[in-house]
Amino acid sequence: MGAKRCSGQRNKEKASTVEQLAYRFQGFPTRTQEHILNQFIGSVRFLWNRMLGDWIGSYKEKGKSDPIRTPSSYKQEPGLEWLKDMDSLALCNVQQNFERAVSEFFSGEKGFLRFKKKHACKDSYTTNLSNKENPNLFLEGCMLKLPKVKEPVVLRLHREVAPGGILKNCTVTREPDGRWYFSLVYEYTRKDVPKKAEGQAPDKIRSIGLDMSLPELFVDSNGNVPNYPKPYRRLQKKIAREQRRLSRMEKDSSNYNKQLRKIARLHAKAKHQREDFLHKLSYNLVHDYDIICIEDLDMVAMKKALSFGKSVSDNGWGGFVRMLQYKAERYGCIIIKVDKWFASSKTCSSCGYKHSELKLSDRTYICPKCGHVMGRDHQAAINIRNEGMRIYTETHPLAA
Ligand SMILES: [Zn+2]
Repeated sequence: MGAKRCSGQRNKEKASTVEQLAYRFQGFPTRTQEHILNQFIGSVRFLWNRMLGDWIGSYKEKGKSDPIRTPSSYKQEPGLEWLKDMDSLALCNVQQNFERAVSEFFSGEKGFLRFKKKHACKDSYTTNLSNKENPNLFLEGCMLKLPKVKEPVVLRLHREVAPGGILKNCTVTREPDGRWYFSLVYEYTRKDVPKKAEGQAPDKIRSIGLDMSLPELFVDSNGNVPNYPKPYRRLQKKIAREQRRLSRMEKDSSNYNKQLRKIARLHAKAKHQREDFLHKLSYNLVHDYDIICIEDLDMVAMKKALSFGKSVSDNGWGGFVRMLQYKAERYGCIIIKVDKWFASSKTCSSCGYKHSELKLSDRTYICPKCGHVMGRDHQAAINIRNEGMRIYTETHPLAA
């Protein structure tokens, strides 16, 4: 029964009426709780490796693989009774992930399945809600109740969980630095939020344009760039410093490997800080504006473009746009994507002159026709906003 219930999460029919929201919080399990959580993490890794071992074994022996065994059949095996004390929902998720990995392998989507090595793989497990009436998984205040863990775990809720949702599942992760994180997935009934711009005169509509630009992610039509928090900037400097130290070390020495792990931890920390910041930033944008205009960049083509190379994908513009889009839907904000061929950085925002000689290396725009001077990306952001608003007013004529 448990296994069936888990699979319901990916039910396509439900997808149109519900939406899921994920939150990631740091948690502070006690020593006893840490011990249990570590056991659960170990048990899912164990089960995965056993399933894979058996699967490969039967394939080698008979030339075809036996049906994938259920966690409960493993629990019956002598010596494996300890699995009964583990979180059965987490084990059932292993079975599902395994089945998916097998079918993805056969369909050619993914490569062959791998064994999970301790510490080399993500130390985590996923559990879920199994009973709505008598929930085994819930958050009360900052206390998270997990299945098979007696006392709730204390979380640091750095942002508010939107009310009205049902906590569907939770992924518990132990980071390499020993910190614990809890990713909670909530399910909400989707409701159509009226668009804030609807019925408003164009000059009353609060609009903004964003021009993707490096290294700050974007410049907006007010000339602002994201104001990354100080700790994040400090961390960036630290990473650069540690990276330089690494380059002076002898490769494959124990100090070198230690330093490598240290840098990996710093990167992980920076990534979380950054994501956190981008969540707040995107929330503020959809909250403060009725219409947000962005350039419709073809990310694949962008990545291929040699001049941008790696930095575009690292910069996470695509991820940021996704954040903007789902948040916009929730808060009634409209996102308008402006044609990527629209000459956003070449057009003068003051007189409309198209400065086709402008090179990518010119960081300042000086209009040859009217003498207007402006930062190149700021100008592009204004043009993106103007073009977006032109599209909007054209497609949404006000009833007289
Ligand atoms: Zn001009």
